[in-house]
Amino acid sequence: MLSNHLQNGMDTAKLMWSRLPKSEVEAEADGSTADEVGRYKKNDGIAVESLDYEVIENCAYRQEQAKRGKIYRAYTVLVKWILALLIGTGTALAAVFINISVENFAGWKYSLTFNIIQKSYFAGFLVYMLINLALVLSSAWIITQFAPAAAGSGIPEIKGYLNGIDTHGILLFRTLIGKIFGSIGSVGGGLALGKEGPLVHIGACIASLLGQGGSTKYHLRSRWLQIFTSERDRRDLVTCGCAAGVAAAFRAPVGGVLFALEEVTSWWRSQLMWRVFFTSAIVAVVVRSAMGWCKSGKCGHFGDGGFIIWDISGGQEDYSFQELLPMAVIGVIGGLLGALFNQLTYYIAYWRRNYLHKRGNRVKVVEVCIVSVITSVISFGLPLFKKCTPCPDTDANSGIECPRRPGMYGNYVNFYCGEKEYNDLATIFFNTQDDAIRNLFSAKTIHEFSAQSLLTFLVMFYSLAVVTFGTAVPAGQFVPGIMIGSTYGRLVGMFVVSFYQKLNIEEGTYALLGAASFLGGSMRMTVSLCVIMVEITNNLKLLPLIMLVLLISKAVGDAFNEGLYEEQARLRGIPLLESRPKYQMRNITAKEACGNQQVVYFPRVVKVMDVLSILKGNNHNGFPVIDHTRSGETLVIGLILRSHLLVLLQSKVDFQHSPLPFSSRDGPIPIRHNLTEFVKPVSSKGLSIHDIHLTPDDLEMYIDLAPFLNPSPYVVPEDMSLTKVYNLFRQLGLRHLLVVPHASRVVGMITRKDLLIEDNEDIAGVELQTTSQ
Ligand code: ATP
Ligand code: MG
Repeated sequence: MLSNHLQNGMDTAKLMWSRLPKSEVEAEADGSTADEVGRYKKNDGIAVESLDYEVIENCAYRQEQAKRGKIYRAYTVLVKWILALLIGTGTALAAVFINISVENFAGWKYSLTFNIIQKSYFAGFLVYMLINLALVLSSAWIITQFAPAAAGSGIPEIKGYLNGIDTHGILLFRTLIGKIFGSIGSVGGGLALGKEGPLVHIGACIASLLGQGGSTKYHLRSRWLQIFTSERDRRDLVTCGCAAGVAAAFRAPVGGVLFALEEVTSWWRSQLMWRVFFTSAIVAVVVRSAMGWCKSGKCGHFGDGGFIIWDISGGQEDYSFQELLPMAVIGVIGGLLGALFNQLTYYIAYWRRNYLHKRGNRVKVVEVCIVSVITSVISFGLPLFKKCTPCPDTDANSGIECPRRPGMYGNYVNFYCGEKEYNDLATIFFNTQDDAIRNLFSAKTIHEFSAQSLLTFLVMFYSLAVVTFGTAVPAGQFVPGIMIGSTYGRLVGMFVVSFYQKLNIEEGTYALLGAASFLGGSMRMTVSLCVIMVEITNNLKLLPLIMLVLLISKAVGDAFNEGLYEEQARLRGIPLLESRPKYQMRNITAKEACGNQQVVYFPRVVKVMDVLSILKGNNHNGFPVIDHTRSGETLVIGLILRSHLLVLLQSKVDFQHSPLPFSSRDGPIPIRHNLTEFVKPVSSKGLSIHDIHLTPDDLEMYIDLAPFLNPSPYVVPEDMSLTKVYNLFRQLGLRHLLVVPHASRVVGMITRKDLLIEDNEDIAGVELQTTSQ
């Protein structure tokens, strides 16, 4: 039963906020259909909750701010930089560990297979397939049994997190561990996926864990790191982690910063640029030192070819005007194949989620094993049908590494061929991904690969990448994208070389452009991809060409569907707020967008019984709090979070017998609760209404909500267009926005001049000055 007081409040609320009954008619009248209104209404079916990035300026916050002196502020800044350093170091070390492990597993696997196929092809295949299967199985086991949130690349989820959506389990310690070991298994096991996307997730997990001072569950917490009070700080650290992930994956520090800026974050603060840049620089230094240490052979098979970087500085120096047309064609192919990839993966992932994966973990593991066996059969079997190619004439300076003894793998793969021969299909199919890409980008000779081999690889690898995407293993899309793109790029290159024989054209350059075009057509990034491509190939001269193909492929892809990560986020029910509002929002007002909702309020002093029944009656996380003036006018005095109400109910210390609020004349408000709990939003997952146990006496008590609410929530007038509301909501990273009728009075006007306040300036002085003018 609601108390009378609350009932009055609710009635007033209905009067103030209820939607006009003819809103659909109105919507039609102003050009938007009722359907459109419905479409932009919230989706109650979505189970995800948002994050509170807003600063809650309640009593607790103000007290906390008043206590903070200069030393504390300096300490906070120092800890932020130390954390950036730790994030960079941690992500770089994780990347080095994954690379060393993958290279070693792959190295042992290929050496063993090559040795065995000298005696029996079948035995060689069996060993190759079983090693792949064991590695992939370990990865699938980790994901299904230990860290389900570590499946996939994790980028859509991190993008969602930075957009304000709380996806369960994505930043946990176990997810981090699952991602690291799962990636080693899936990439080492030769599946058509990469480790670069997972590294972004790994960076984000490391950042988030450091931001909260470690893992509570595993008792790995440090108190001196726990200084951050808001989700904002954690969000900034996660942004640093994403940049570190890309910087470590590609050894592309600037690319990492731009990736974070362009692809994953929704809000960017200029102060953040510095720290993200610093984190990426740390990654570059740590990775370089680790690689230097490994060069002396201390890291097994890692060292000569390991770590993603394809230095093609010896490649094509310049390009001629005639080449622009075939390069544009590469851009168009990239856009088409990229959009097709997104669409196919969307359909398959949809089917998996709704039918296959619902049958349980066993099905997921069996599925991954089948994909692994098919991959092994194709990558081992197809090169067997390929004729051997004689090695090109080598001289000491050419740098061509043709296998001199059977089984050696490197620039060219010998496979079953004789001495001074190589198998071009095995060179890209039966090889580690990094070496295969290095071979595809190679600009040493012409026609190293036959068109038939490239076409076979393209069709097969494309199909494998589509099928593998979405299985229960950590999977990145960068490297498969680079492999697919460089294959058709090289095919176009071969055609161009034979067409314009007099020009100094190299197929490797076209392979690089093809890789850029496929990534652009699928992921729809521009600036960051461009810089990453330049950084990994170490060839600045190709910059204008990469820009050209990226722009074309993105434009072509955009004509068909959304980018890969957006599509996947949609599929996973992550409601991202994109950077631009939809056009139709111009015709919808804030009030119309609220629909027929009855706003659920709390009065300032509320009966415990009512709090309990209201919290049980809905799942909302924010509630306006109203009060009445002496003249009986209703005032909205702030917004209270469900998580804070739950803390109040559980602790009981702020319960009072009187239904009257404390006034300032009674002296300071006697808050017995530990206010620090109210400075930041408490996790909505932490405490549930079912954890609250109250006695009948408790239920008859009251709580004065005034000290705990956020007294300055953002509000918009009811007839503000939804476009403006959208921009405000997204740019400020809000969770709740109150829609109010027209204000009755104005108490002041803020302009630019009111915001230009010097450090240590006396605000009262400013006021005096302003009024005296
Ligand atoms: P989020 O889900 O983004 O974390 P929330 O949980 O507070 O925020 P929901 O309750 O999930 O919000 O929102 C579902 C719908 O309920 C939305 O349409 C929203 O407008 C509406 N809603 C939210 N809070 C209230 C409230 N206090 N009174 C009435 N309607 C509300
Ligand atoms: Mg909700």
